[in-house]
Amino acid sequence: MNSTSLKKLREIVGSENVLDSLESRIAYSYDATAIKPQLPFAVVRPHAAEEISEIVKLANEERFPIVPRGSGTGLSGGALPMENAIVLLTNHWNHILEIDQENLTVTVEPGVITGQLHQAVEKLGFLYPPDPGSSSICTIGGNVAENSGGLRGLKYGVTKNYVLGLEVVLPTGEILHTGGKSVKDVAGYNLKDVLIGSEGTLGIFTKILLKIIPKPETSKTMIAFYSSMDDAAKTVSAVIAAKITPAMLEFLDNTTIRCVEDYTHLGLPVDAEAMLLIEVDGRKGVVEEDATRITEICRHHNAASIKIAHDEQESVKLKTARRAAFTSLARVKPTTIMEDVAVPRADLVKLVARIREIGKKNDVPIGNFGHAGDGNLHPNYLTDERNAEDFARATKTVFEVEEAAIELGGTITGEHGVGLYKKPLLEKMVGSPSIQMMRTLKQMMDPNNILNPGKIFDLKPRCEGPLPRDREQIKKFEDVAWI
Ligand SMILES: Cc1cc2nc3c(=O)[nH]c(=O)nc-3n(C[C@H](O)[C@H](O)[C@H](O)COP(=O)(O)OP(=O)(O)OC[C@H]3O[C@@H](n4cnc5c(N)ncnc54)[C@H](O)[C@@H]3O)c2cc1C
Repeated sequence: MNSTSLKKLREIVGSENVLDSLESRIAYSYDATAIKPQLPFAVVRPHAAEEISEIVKLANEERFPIVPRGSGTGLSGGALPMENAIVLLTNHWNHILEIDQENLTVTVEPGVITGQLHQAVEKLGFLYPPDPGSSSICTIGGNVAENSGGLRGLKYGVTKNYVLGLEVVLPTGEILHTGGKSVKDVAGYNLKDVLIGSEGTLGIFTKILLKIIPKPETSKTMIAFYSSMDDAAKTVSAVIAAKITPAMLEFLDNTTIRCVEDYTHLGLPVDAEAMLLIEVDGRKGVVEEDATRITEICRHHNAASIKIAHDEQESVKLKTARRAAFTSLARVKPTTIMEDVAVPRADLVKLVARIREIGKKNDVPIGNFGHAGDGNLHPNYLTDERNAEDFARATKTVFEVEEAAIELGGTITGEHGVGLYKKPLLEKMVGSPSIQMMRTLKQMMDPNNILNPGKIFDLKPRCEGPLPRDREQIKKFEDVAWI
């Protein structure tokens, strides 16, 4: 990458869409992950698939890396640039192109903000269910690239369950169209599902066709507080065993409750060990019945108090307790590392206990919350990256919690992706044949390793990248056979 490449990029997208001032490069040198920033060479804002195709072809000729980026809210370092790379921005490219009420689909540009899509379809009586905690700022393109989940995952699934079709610029510059509005389609290999969750390594999404569903008639939100984590976990299992599938079944631990109360002053009981946020939706009669049954289950499992929202305003207030969790914890210490482990739901209580034990052993304060109904937790390690010793203990904790999740039959990432952050344990998690298959696929589709290189796994002998993780732990993975 050099000044001639910059000149060619300006010819493709126009000078105003190539940013190379130091300020712009700094602004796009990091995402929401606690990883050391890295300056890109430049930032490029294309407005059409054809422009992206030309940029990708140029990158192949001149061998510079491209890092696609939506809003940069990713929590695994996926949008973090590497040396000599251009950041390819999509967040300005944000039109909802069509809402097809007969086929129950929407077509969007990649930079549409997820929350804005929610509002647009809800006005017409529809629902786009995937609902990441970051929905007011993240983009649909980022959601597809990470296969994002969110608060409604238990009942409605994750992003991949709603992607019907994609327009994608491949790593060699061809523009591929896959999927469509047909509800059924089994023509050939399912390329769409290979691309969903590929974290910007196999293609750049330029148009996305999504499924929407009729908006449920009504919903009811409640929160329950417990003096024992065990009782909260038993409530989760009992609700599922009662054959009720809530739209939300979320958990906050005591540290998180305290921090949220300190930040929001919602009146949460700060001595509670655990809080569950539960929402049911559907037909009015069924919702009333389910809400009553859930209240009984909470009481049966010793809930100290239960609050039920009586209108939309109260519901929003109760959900604020959960939505403000990350922001509230992030005020405690200069650096917050948000983890994303998941286990089979029945083992949630074991995972919570292991996280506590590991945090105590390593002397790392942890605020734990997450999607209890999915077995997906987000322990937040509160640390200070300027203090090497403190930060090393926190990163050690990350590894140990990830290992605990694997031992419990779970995963190192339920919804945030591998990116840079989860790379060291991916092979242990998925096994050698799987990782070989992934590498083969990447090499076949991206022979010059142009798109987001070094994310998910390395293709060459380990390039350490900008990830300052615990040296000793990294050493453990050095004997992995690289392509
Ligand atoms: C407070 C907070 C709460 C969160 N809650 C959740 C949650 O509940 N559930 C959840 O799943 N995640 C959550 N996240 C993580 C994050 O918001 C999601 O991963 C989101 O999908 C990222 O979208 P983005 O637009 O910010 O993508 P970015 O961070 O910009 O990029 C993420 C990845 O997608 C790639 N990418 C972006 N756009 C494209 C494109 N058009 N084509 C190809 N690749 C692309 C990037 O290269 C990168 O690898 C949360 C994050 C924060 C900060």
